[in-house]
Amino acid sequence: MKDMTIPRPGDTLADAIRQHLKFSLGKSSDVATLTDWRMALSLAVRDRIVDPWFASTRAAYDKQGKRVYYLSMEFLIGRLLEDATVNLGLMDEVTEFFQSRGLDARKVMQDEPDAALGNGGLGRLAACFLESMSTVGCPAYGYGIRYEHGLFRQSFDRGRQMEGPEDWLTEAHAWEYERTEAQYRIGFGGQVKQLGDRTVWQPAETVLARAYDTPMIGWQGRWANTLRLWSARPETVFDLGRFNAGDYYGAAEPENLARTISRVLYPDDTTEDGKRLRLKQEFFFTAASLRDILRRFDSEYDDLKLLPEKVAIQLNDTHPAIAGPELVRLLVDEKGMAFEDAVTVAQGCLGYTNHTLLPEALERWSVKLMTDLLPRHMQIIEMIDAMHKNAHPDRKVEMIGGGDVQMGPIAFFMAHKVNGVSALHTELMKETVFAELNRLHPNRIVNETNGITPRRWVLGANPRLSRLVTDAIGDGWVDDLERLQEIEPLADDSSFRDAYDAAKRANKADLAAYLGQRGLSVDPDAMFDVQIKRIHEYKRQHLNILQTIALWQEMKDAPQGNWLPQVKIFAGKAAPGYVFAKEIIHLINAVAEVINADPDTSHLLKVAYPANYNVSLAERLIPAAEVSQQISTAGKEASGTGNMKFALNGALTIGTLDGANVEIRELVGAENFFLFGMTAPEVVARREVAEHAKKAIAADPRLKRAMDAIEAGIFGERFPSIIENLMGHDYFCVTSDFSDYWRASRELEVAYRDRAEWTRMAILNTARSGWFSSDRTIRGYMADIWGAEALTI
Ligand SMILES: *Cc1c(COP(=O)(O)O)cnc(C)c1O
Repeated sequence: MKDMTIPRPGDTLADAIRQHLKFSLGKSSDVATLTDWRMALSLAVRDRIVDPWFASTRAAYDKQGKRVYYLSMEFLIGRLLEDATVNLGLMDEVTEFFQSRGLDARKVMQDEPDAALGNGGLGRLAACFLESMSTVGCPAYGYGIRYEHGLFRQSFDRGRQMEGPEDWLTEAHAWEYERTEAQYRIGFGGQVKQLGDRTVWQPAETVLARAYDTPMIGWQGRWANTLRLWSARPETVFDLGRFNAGDYYGAAEPENLARTISRVLYPDDTTEDGKRLRLKQEFFFTAASLRDILRRFDSEYDDLKLLPEKVAIQLNDTHPAIAGPELVRLLVDEKGMAFEDAVTVAQGCLGYTNHTLLPEALERWSVKLMTDLLPRHMQIIEMIDAMHKNAHPDRKVEMIGGGDVQMGPIAFFMAHKVNGVSALHTELMKETVFAELNRLHPNRIVNETNGITPRRWVLGANPRLSRLVTDAIGDGWVDDLERLQEIEPLADDSSFRDAYDAAKRANKADLAAYLGQRGLSVDPDAMFDVQIKRIHEYKRQHLNILQTIALWQEMKDAPQGNWLPQVKIFAGKAAPGYVFAKEIIHLINAVAEVINADPDTSHLLKVAYPANYNVSLAERLIPAAEVSQQISTAGKEASGTGNMKFALNGALTIGTLDGANVEIRELVGAENFFLFGMTAPEVVARREVAEHAKKAIAADPRLKRAMDAIEAGIFGERFPSIIENLMGHDYFCVTSDFSDYWRASRELEVAYRDRAEWTRMAILNTARSGWFSSDRTIRGYMADIWGAEALTI
């Protein structure tokens, strides 16, 4: 690292924190609040990122390497302070500094608002990728939207989900740099004109996209990339004429209209509601990002044919899929390239990641809306479609069909590689949504199984386990996670098992204290069983709660029986418009209220549902988990990444053969995984069986009894929509999988009672999950899709 500012003598981190408190925040230490300390610490840590950040930018220019641009509607980054502190190796210094002031460094760090600029797995994947790209030295930018309001804050009112605004930006935010010079004009609507042989789009409305940069530092500060988020601003801030005429609200209208674009994150996880604003958001950030990418390219090279050699653009799902037509438009209309060449160049740059096979989640826009909002893009889409049809006259796939523009096929065709996110999902993609496109373009589909960053999900979130592992094998595992295999022999060492157990027990005690503060007392020696993720029918939280009801009923039949005490923990948000998912939340809370108050069983069974699941809550829950519930209907969960976080932290999975569960089971060993349920083809076949749900309920008295209890009003309301769904078409096969789920759950309890054996299995889960590091995933993308090389500073 050349040219770095030499820290002045005495410029310790402690000095820097004190100086920021005094000079940046204008506070003296005797009146400083927790937030003041958090800000002072954040600024001091941020200062340490700047030099490696500059050095990384310079290295990328000097080496003329390929840059990766990761376009994503969502970045679920959570808190950044702890991650940066951990990666810069400053944790001990920080802990000492605050200890000497009688403050707890973790409390200071937990004061940071959790930036929830995403819904769930897709956004969290983007955040893990940013960190891994910095750790492995892949020169990259993340591009997205700087939402004023991230995902809503969830609370419960008599068991029902309430949604409030999550104001991450109203509190002091330490990490971003506003770039007033990086600003682009983004158009919408208007007309397409022919000026001689040039086609010109004249938008009716324009807004400005302004960049805000957040540095993302990799492990040991070896490299730093940039997360560049776009904020929408008006071209004319204020209509003075209207103001002077007394129209004060009207005067602010242009400003309000423009800002709406980056106002809120769409809270729908997988379903599309086809809103005009949503398409505007997608075009807004995609167009701004492409302009920024071309500007950077133009500053270094003058031959646009070099673009695919120097630029890799990854589309995180179809949300930025308008990048294909927009890049072609820029190359043809603004740079004068021939259309077919422009398509070839764009394809060379673009890669597309598919995240879901759920038909309702595949984006499509009406031709009318597309023509109205993006008239030139509609023309280009028609040209791309015609070009494809020419090349494949027998094709049975449409980019424009049924009055809609189909973003999936457009993304597929405009990308040189299309990837699935787990082995199973990739195979299903080839057989279902993209069967025809895969036939026409064999070898375009590749697999890159998702991963998670071990810095956040083990080193930061689970310091006790991390210390234990580092004491045993050194700290090389942190950026070479498969080295966790080296602890495998220790699974047979009883003193290591005791230490591993003690770390888990301490994490459980921490969580029990946290739940206790929220009004629920739980026994830290009970088994902690956790299902945390978005609430969705396919994820089947209702299967879990039905099983919980059935267990409770059996416990009540024989309270003196030899029951295994357990805490069932749920967390997750439902999309505000997803009525059925909200009913599931209500049911879980209603069941919790009855079970937790039952004196017959309260020493045996508790149900916890802490509100407002987000990254920070996940970091609390996962290290304390012993059982990981991954029970989606087979064929529906593309990968899952929660499942990986749990396995690494030594929770044993009870799960279906779905998404990356398949690979987890292969790696950790079938004997260390509790499998149940139908396979994806069996699910498809079961749906064809007449009255499959009624038959399944009739065949399982436990299931029938649990459903009867709900219907009888034992839990207050009777939840008719859930009962009717389960007795009716039960598309997600909850009833059909219940019996086998019950069996696996009881087998798991038997295994849990053998403490030495259980801990051995938990250690093997940790030891064998190293492959799920997102460093491995990123290296896969670099080699198979991007053709990018790692650089160093
Ligand atoms: C990891 C993570 C997810 C994804 O969880 P899945 O179980 O894979 O659906 C969602 N939300 C948060 C906050 C996460 O940390």
